[in-house]
Amino acid sequence: MPIDFHLSPSQAGTHQAARSLARNLLLPSRQTYLQHPPNSPLRFQSTQPTYAAAVSAGLLKGQVSPAHGGTGGTLIESAILVEECYSVEPSTALTIFATGLGLTPLNLAAGPQHVEFLAPFLSGEGSPLASLVFSEPGGVANALEKGAKGFQTTARQEGDEWVINGEKMWATNCAGWDFKGCDLACVVCRDVTTPLEEGQEPQDKVMIILVTRADLDRNGEGSFEVLRHIATPGHTSVSGPHVRYANVRVPAKNVLCPPGQGAQVAFGSFDGSAVLVGAMGVGLMRAAFDAAIAFAKRDDRGGAVPLLERQAFADLLSGVKMQTEAARALTWKAAHAMENGPGDYDARRELALAAKVFCSEAAVKACTDVINAVGITAYDLDQPFSDLLNTAVVLPIFDGGNVGIRRRHLQQLMLKPTYDAWAATYGPSTSE
Ligand SMILES: Cc1cc2nc3c(=O)[nH]c(=O)nc-3n(C[C@H](O)[C@H](O)[C@H](O)COP(=O)(O)OP(=O)(O)OC[C@H]3O[C@@H](n4cnc5c(N)ncnc54)[C@H](O)[C@@H]3O)c2cc1C
Repeated sequence: MPIDFHLSPSQAGTHQAARSLARNLLLPSRQTYLQHPPNSPLRFQSTQPTYAAAVSAGLLKGQVSPAHGGTGGTLIESAILVEECYSVEPSTALTIFATGLGLTPLNLAAGPQHVEFLAPFLSGEGSPLASLVFSEPGGVANALEKGAKGFQTTARQEGDEWVINGEKMWATNCAGWDFKGCDLACVVCRDVTTPLEEGQEPQDKVMIILVTRADLDRNGEGSFEVLRHIATPGHTSVSGPHVRYANVRVPAKNVLCPPGQGAQVAFGSFDGSAVLVGAMGVGLMRAAFDAAIAFAKRDDRGGAVPLLERQAFADLLSGVKMQTEAARALTWKAAHAMENGPGDYDARRELALAAKVFCSEAAVKACTDVINAVGITAYDLDQPFSDLLNTAVVLPIFDGGNVGIRRRHLQQLMLKPTYDAWAATYGPSTSE
């Protein structure tokens, strides 16, 4: 591929469509959810009409792979969409993108027997929610560590059924609009039908089971419960409560990934989302820069010249601009490499992880830099700056925290004897 950063006609079309969607559809939803108290679950519920409009605009079908009947584009196009939405209204956007994350395990692993589970998301109707139900109240960073407890949500095979038990927490959309369960949950759990045998690794027991709302309804009262809605400083219209599955029985056809295949698909899903967290960071940095430069042009803080003419302010701003450009370049490169190479999967994955870590941390710093530049005015809730920081601060710690998960994966890649540092840029190294 020649190095060329012009958008293709299709990418430019995605950019324009995303711009219009963010401003005309997502932004108005903010006015609606802000009418409810901070972190009231009503905030999430009030975004349902916006979500439904996004569904009819094709946003869910656009997150399903063409191989399964969807209209999903490239990862670069997704990054363009995510950046645009995050620069305008991240909270409502996350509810939409989290359904995409919930469908990713199916994009990666669905067979013909799973087609029926995708149907509601291809119809362009209603407001179906999907969720990748991975995180647990006791933490997941070490779920695959030998000798550790492993996932505490378990599944046991009984005849033609699997029985799921356990608690999950934080999984966006997992409880659905009425908090009785979402339309489709990809539940990552540990098979306890038989004990771990000598020589087996913890990941040999990890599986993914599809749990639909119809399954939960059939299991009846008490099978699925919201234990607590979680109040968060940012993303205040997002729902990812602490929930419990109690003896939820599903048919064997609901097994998306049998024991031994679940971890790879779950982590593969998070490889794609890592790139998109990079795009989220870019969107927030962009919004922070735009708001700060507008302030610096219109305000002089009692001096004779606008703040932008003060070198200290300009230096902070140009620093944010440079970081934003660098973050976007890394995100786009990671997105392109994931789908096109060069390099093997490990080399591509390293770039995805790098985009997640670099852009998420750069976004937090950009928000604090513009707050320092703007000064006390930034502390006024009528200004966008504190909200941007409250939103950005989750990027390093969600979607796999940078300290306990993402950097650990980067380390594991470097430790491999086959590690090939620059393969995702120049192709596999030769031995000469
Ligand atoms: C808005 C939002 C949306 C979310 N959406 C989803 C979703 O859709 N699905 C889902 O499943 N989850 C979701 N989550 C949850 C979140 O993605 C994960 O729970 C979180 O990323 C777990 O990462 P962690 O590193 O904090 O893990 P934890 O296991 O909680 O680890 C906590 C800390 O312990 C330390 N630590 C742990 N292990 C090690 C180690 N081996 N080495 C060094 N340090 C270690 C690190 O400092 C780490 O930061 C969401 C959360 C939020 C806030």
